[in-house]
Amino acid sequence: MRASPRAPDPERSPERERLSGPQRALRRLGLVRPIDLALHLPLRYEDLTRVRPLADAQDGDEALIEGEVLACEVRLRPRRQLIATLAVAGGGRCTLRFFTFYPSHQRALAVGARVRAHGELRGGWAGWTLVHPRLLPVDAPLPAGLTPVYPTTAGLPQAYLRAAVARALQQADLSETVPPEALADLPGASGPPWTLQAALAFLHHPDPRTPRAALEDRAHPAWQRLKAEELLAQQLAQVQARRERDALRAPVLRAAADGLPWRLQAALPFALTGAQQRVVAEISADLARAIPMHRLLQGDVGSGKTVVAALAAAVAIDAGWQCALMAPTEILAGQHFGKMVQWLEPLLAPLGRGVAWLTGSQPRAQRHAMLARIAAGEAALVVGTHAVIQEQVTFERLGLAVIDEQHRFGVAQRLALRQKAGAGAAGVEPHLLMMSATPIPRTLAMSVYADLDVSTLDELPPGRSPIVTKVLADHRRPEVIARIRAQVAQGRQVYWVCPLIEESEALDVRAATATHAELVAALAGVTTPDGRAVQVGLLHSRLSAADKKAIMAAFAAGDLAVLVSTTVIEVGVDVPNASLMVIEHAERFGLSQLHQLRGRVGRGAVASVCLLLYSPGESGRVSESARARLRAMVETQDGFEIARRDLALRGPGEFLGARQSGTPLLRFADWQTDEPLIAWAHRWAPRLWQQHPQLAQRHLARWLGVKLDYLKA
Ligand code: ADP
Ligand code: MG
Repeated sequence: MRASPRAPDPERSPERERLSGPQRALRRLGLVRPIDLALHLPLRYEDLTRVRPLADAQDGDEALIEGEVLACEVRLRPRRQLIATLAVAGGGRCTLRFFTFYPSHQRALAVGARVRAHGELRGGWAGWTLVHPRLLPVDAPLPAGLTPVYPTTAGLPQAYLRAAVARALQQADLSETVPPEALADLPGASGPPWTLQAALAFLHHPDPRTPRAALEDRAHPAWQRLKAEELLAQQLAQVQARRERDALRAPVLRAAADGLPWRLQAALPFALTGAQQRVVAEISADLARAIPMHRLLQGDVGSGKTVVAALAAAVAIDAGWQCALMAPTEILAGQHFGKMVQWLEPLLAPLGRGVAWLTGSQPRAQRHAMLARIAAGEAALVVGTHAVIQEQVTFERLGLAVIDEQHRFGVAQRLALRQKAGAGAAGVEPHLLMMSATPIPRTLAMSVYADLDVSTLDELPPGRSPIVTKVLADHRRPEVIARIRAQVAQGRQVYWVCPLIEESEALDVRAATATHAELVAALAGVTTPDGRAVQVGLLHSRLSAADKKAIMAAFAAGDLAVLVSTTVIEVGVDVPNASLMVIEHAERFGLSQLHQLRGRVGRGAVASVCLLLYSPGESGRVSESARARLRAMVETQDGFEIARRDLALRGPGEFLGARQSGTPLLRFADWQTDEPLIAWAHRWAPRLWQQHPQLAQRHLARWLGVKLDYLKA
């Protein structure tokens, strides 16, 4: 069921030759159908409805003035420019200044000519100036409404676009697709609801008396109506995706009462938290249904997601199926593998089954052996990186796929994993569990992730002490190093993270190498409580997989007291004895990333500290947004609050990952301010599909047209 057939690719159509430049530009903007143009709303407006006298003008005003040209000349200094002086109707003079100009400007501004000019007035008592005004003929009637200024692209003049939109508004089918009962329920609505037609007519050509603020911040009821339409389309697509998935079959995975999950829990060295018990129950209930699970497990760093994944795997294995666990980095996958072997191998070995390991860097022979075990079903659980989804990997019967740090993976990769249900189980999809330490803010959970079920670990395992976070200027490094000496002398471990320098991996490595040398020198002669000399490790992306693994293992085993690293350690790594995290150039990191990094400490019972070092750089100042990020880190340790602030600072890109696939999901509505409208759309979309499926189809086709596919994964 597809809401609209894929339109022919306009770039390839035989009509292409016949399209003019502006027509092709329209297509590049995706403005193909009349409705696309009708929904192409102005960025801002110009007021050309009346000619203003200078007497009531203020510096910075947008104004349309009219007058007679007194003088016009080209000056060459300080740079080439065209300068004209107008005697303005109603009194006063105004200078018009052009740095780019054509003979047409000079013709229009011939001495004695009357012109209208529109632009932003500068100046005051010393005389008024318009820089690069738009020149308009004096004899044309003034428009009755505000003049729209549309988002455009090279080769598409505003005048052409305005005419095209005006035509499209006549041609497009603007009949209602939102039933009256839903419109009546719109939040904040007073009076009769705006029709789509009226809202569009208004937004393209608003009444000039409308307060500009209501137009600019999109609070006007006509804007609300458009945003509601857009959000509803987005929700309808989500509901549709979910319905399509619900029509698929998945294996019913139910463990015996005294089966593997029970035995695993009994063998764990700790008791599950209440939150872990709850989410394990939610996941188990999904797995026991014949519909593929599509669940996101979100839990702050250190909340204990890995053991939940192990228990889910145990359910699948107990039911006679295989499980795949995929992680975004080799370090993290390796760590998961270690844990799964420790937890599950003792239970699987008696059954003649085991845990397999797949990465891109493993030796061929080992890889072949693993592939054979996976295909034979002897590998009950397969842990690895992207290597898990490569073509050569054939499962005997894959029942459950778990993706850790899901936002690190693209849609294509998630789809590939789902398609790996074994050959022996034709027509069956595996269940999918995605895990993330970046909590999704409420509004996004309700909208972009509305097609997922979400389980939340909102409780940390007991005995964690809070992390103290401090922000320090880089010149206080000596104090930081003194603190490191004190920590390692007590047998504690320390991370020191160097930032990624975007343009150059070589520079990253060099920065990390220099810091490593600095720390080796500073810690010479310091010993751990058991009398060993303190060792400092260095981890960066240029090392071989084997070296990375060896260094991580040495740090996890406590042989390295300090680990200097680029951000390769960002996700997931778990070394509970580490109690100090130093982040250099913290001003360069994103907020969620800082929170992730900080989450590497505070995993044991010892009090932990996170030091954020910043360097003001050449400007001598740290940017406002960097300061906001550092402030947020000091003020809160709550992952949800961090996510909320990150959304406010950066918009939704980070949370969406590949889900967004480059296409802005929302053009008009805003994740921050439009929560009531998002909630409205969330409430109404399922009802619309149920009670008015034809309207729902039409609504989707109208808003998303050919863009539907990317919402599916
Ligand atoms: P994350 O959610 O960040 O992936 P992990 O799964 O790595 O967290 O768990 C963090 C640490 O807490 C690990 O050392 C893990 O073994 C431990 N842990 C998990 N659950 C519990 C629990 N219920 N009680 C005590 N420790 C736990
Ligand atoms: Mg984890």
